[in-house]
Amino acid sequence: MTQVVPDQARRGPLVPAAVEALLTLAERLLGATEASAAGSLLLDAVVGAFGFPRAVLLAAQDGRLPVLASHGLSAATPRTGRCDSPVVVAAHESGSSALLRDLDPEREPWLAQLFPRGVDLIVVPLIHDGRRYGALLLQAPGTRDLAWVSSVVATVERAASCVARSLRTLWRVEHLERLAATDDLTMIANRRSFDFSLERELARSARSDEPVSLVILDLDGFKGVNDRYGHPAGDEALRNVAAALSIVCRDLDTPARYGGEEFAVILPGCDHLQSMDIAERLRAAIARAPAVTPLTASAGVATFPDHAADAESLVQVADDALLVSKRSGRNRTTQARAPETIHLVPVVVDLDVPVEASR
Ligand code: GH3
Ligand code: MG
Ligand code: MG
Repeated sequence: MTQVVPDQARRGPLVPAAVEALLTLAERLLGATEASAAGSLLLDAVVGAFGFPRAVLLAAQDGRLPVLASHGLSAATPRTGRCDSPVVVAAHESGSSALLRDLDPEREPWLAQLFPRGVDLIVVPLIHDGRRYGALLLQAPGTRDLAWVSSVVATVERAASCVARSLRTLWRVEHLERLAATDDLTMIANRRSFDFSLERELARSARSDEPVSLVILDLDGFKGVNDRYGHPAGDEALRNVAAALSIVCRDLDTPARYGGEEFAVILPGCDHLQSMDIAERLRAAIARAPAVTPLTASAGVATFPDHAADAESLVQVADDALLVSKRSGRNRTTQARAPETIHLVPVVVDLDVPVEASR
């Protein structure tokens, strides 16, 4: 005879907390979409399994060791700064876990600020397939003998290795996503990424009631630069223009290569007056950018929702304004015109009047 097992019995006291915590890690790790989320899952698992009061995960794809996730640190504990702890660096480089019985603030100032009462600190490197991905710092729950530390470390190392493998995959995906969104020549956002950012900013603007402006810039007579100085010099000029635009932009702006020698900058929160000012600053930056010959640019500026109701028409009216700049002599900025209001005249049909009588 078969019986349905009640849910409570499945998670009863016979299942140790460590098993439960590590199974939860296994269940959730595949669903993690960001490196920091995978890092937090590892901390939750080892803290849940072994009761570490403080735990810190140091990891980055480039071999540095910044804090990726932490547990039990006070709000005031600094989490930034490069890890230069001799013990952590040695464990990371050798790939061997280490136990630090006493933390000497003189020799380990970086560790001492993370673990002010740091006795019995365990350092476990994150290793997968022979490659190092970071290090886990764990404060033991009270003084523990070596047998306890050894058996716990053996389990933590295996959990850390699973997470190292996830980090590798997540970092690869992040890297590929960045490549797919970046223009090869100038290393700023490409057209696809621009389209995505513009839609996102307009949606955000519709919710927050803040305007979004768009500046489209086209280099003047750029064909002549290639013709006179060669394509490589033209490429170099385009790279320098992109760098100059990025320097003028705030963090929340998106400078993008719109195509060829045309650039676009999305300015969240900027109204039609501010955007004209910024367009002039962007053009001034282009004029100062290193190039074989001085460059100028023409610009068209449009603001959502003043000049257009969606992304496609915002680009269209900014482009139209750019064309006006070109036609009126280049090296200038033109603002889009507000759309003309269409007056609808109501048509009244009096159905009571016989056709004959209405003639
Ligand atoms: P206008 O003032 O009307 O914009 O003149 P222009 O010469 O800039 O415009 P046109 O559209 O005639 O030429 C654009 C030039 O930009 C031609 C093309 O070779 C150059 N260009 C486009 N993409 C690249 C690139 O990736 N590298 C280089 N070096 N040149 C490029
Ligand atoms: Mg041009
Ligand atoms: Mg052009």
